[in-house]
Amino acid sequence: MRPASDQAPTVPTVLSALDQVEPRVWKGAMPVQFLYTAGAAGERFFQTLKRKGVFVVTRCEECRLTYLPPRIYCERCFADLSETWREVAPVGKVHTHTLVHVDRQGRNAASPTLVAFVRIDGTDGGLVTRLLEIAPADVRIDMPVELVLAPKRRRRGTLDDIIGFRNRR
Ligand SMILES: [Zn+2]
Repeated sequence: MRPASDQAPTVPTVLSALDQVEPRVWKGAMPVQFLYTAGAAGERFFQTLKRKGVFVVTRCEECRLTYLPPRIYCERCFADLSETWREVAPVGKVHTHTLVHVDRQGRNAASPTLVAFVRIDGTDGGLVTRLLEIAPADVRIDMPVELVLAPKRRRRGTLDDIIGFRNRR
């Protein structure tokens, strides 16, 4: 590599001019309101879960893929999947699991939480969720599990409606 020398290109003049500008600061507050939505597919997913307690998915016949979370377009072939909705039972199998020792703020948790990626039966997807009523030593890969939802009157159509999954007996 060539050492830096007098031959090196000069710094663009615009940048050097900016160095000499004193920044001006106005202090204040800007009230901002926003509404977060989970998108068309996500909204339908959570509203159906809230009302009926089942998962909605979309299906690409061409690719033989069933999307959970549902997708409006196939991620492989870009086909429109907006007319391919179907419902599946909220049951699946533990695909992988771990013990989490910190809370959402990164502080040490009083007790560890058992978290798993659960593959949902009849789909090619799944979700990351808590495992309930299962001792860490008892978790097994492919263990059948079922959804535990918040009571109907407390569901708000958000991810918080899903309390977790427990062993399917
Ligand atoms: Zn496809």
